[in-house]
Amino acid sequence: MKNIKPGLTLLSDALDIAFSEVPVRASIEERQLIECYGAVLRENVTANVSVPSVDNSAMDGYALRHADLKTLKGPVKVSGVSLAGHPYVGTIPKGTAIRIATGAAIPDGADCVIIQENVSANDDETIIEISDDVIARTTLNQNIRWAGEDIKAGDVILSEGMVLRPQDIAIAAGQGRGALKVSKPLSVAVFSTGDELAKPGDALPPGGIYDSNRFAMIGMLREIGCNVTDLGLLADNFDVLRNALGDAAQTHDVIMTSGGVSVGKADLLKPVVDQLGEITAWKLAIKPGKPLMRGKIGDCLVIGLPGNPVSVLVSGLLYVMPLLRHAMGALRSQTEPVRIPVCAGFDFKRGTGRREWLRARLVQNDDGVFEAVAFNSTSSGMLSSMVWADGLIELAEGCGKVSKGDTVLYLPLRGLQ
Ligand code: AMP
Ligand code: MG
Repeated sequence: MKNIKPGLTLLSDALDIAFSEVPVRASIEERQLIECYGAVLRENVTANVSVPSVDNSAMDGYALRHADLKTLKGPVKVSGVSLAGHPYVGTIPKGTAIRIATGAAIPDGADCVIIQENVSANDDETIIEISDDVIARTTLNQNIRWAGEDIKAGDVILSEGMVLRPQDIAIAAGQGRGALKVSKPLSVAVFSTGDELAKPGDALPPGGIYDSNRFAMIGMLREIGCNVTDLGLLADNFDVLRNALGDAAQTHDVIMTSGGVSVGKADLLKPVVDQLGEITAWKLAIKPGKPLMRGKIGDCLVIGLPGNPVSVLVSGLLYVMPLLRHAMGALRSQTEPVRIPVCAGFDFKRGTGRREWLRARLVQNDDGVFEAVAFNSTSSGMLSSMVWADGLIELAEGCGKVSKGDTVLYLPLRGLQ
């Protein structure tokens, strides 16, 4: 803990504590397969059938008995056809070939497939000729895909707690599953707080700023499959906040807010949550995003993010979304960001003690090496830095300096959700 400022919790500890204190709260529903993209799987899916279900051909060509090849001379009779969905019925007659299509069942007795490009066939494909050279090159089992070589009946093909991707949905479809057990979406109420805020679309009062944070929060929440209620803007007023949060807590699993969690006069979120419920964590050793509050009102989880737009996005992506994914039943491994070691293309100095994320882009230098370059400001108020960036560079708590050429961790933004 020696690099940590007193009173701040390390992100890794904060996540461990939050994961242990926040239960998996999303209930389970049976959902049509086509609606399951991005959902958290709540069952182990076992294969009912082997894939492929039968030995089949990897190519268009001719199936033969490999043992026949030694004695084949001149024209070979094609004694049948096996097409995908229309198998050849019976055993391949000795000394003959079966015309076979990709994916079609290998006829009984056949044990190799010669591709059609390597034989010459007569017009109606009833006779083929195979050159000595091709015969010499043909091996036993050539171009055969064996039953079960992809999936064996009984294998666990998808594990509980996975966040489902297109390939996961596809493999379930390949087993004939029409529906899966997944988490119901969490219901999340979203507010922005601050007297200075105006709604996009409305006129901007003098000294006002448009509320951008609500749009960042809602976007992140939708990405991970939450049901969001947009509750708009709240003034920096104790009673207004208390009434709004008290009501929202009755009808939502989670409340997520921005602004008002620091220690200024207008920062009223903490006293409100303190009165209505309980504050369970506050202030993380992270930059941006330090004054992050976790609390609860009844059973409702309350997350109060600071107001600076970059803090909202960074702490949202690295703390809140992992925690909510956990609350939806995701495995811990599914909540970890992708961290890629890359070469630093910049110099940087800073005070130690907090984990920091610089807005970054990955570029290829003149030597073809990928290196990360950092945005020219670390201000957490500059939303343009997040639009410019394709990723974040993560600096460990104890790291005080980065020099060009050092290895740093790059977190692609696309890998953060
Ligand atoms: P706060 O955490 O409330 O002290 O706000 C910190 C900074 O973030 C201030 O400059 C606010 O004006 C700004 N800010 C707060 N809420 C929002 C918001 N919803 N959208 C954009 N900026 C905001
Ligand atoms: Mg404020």
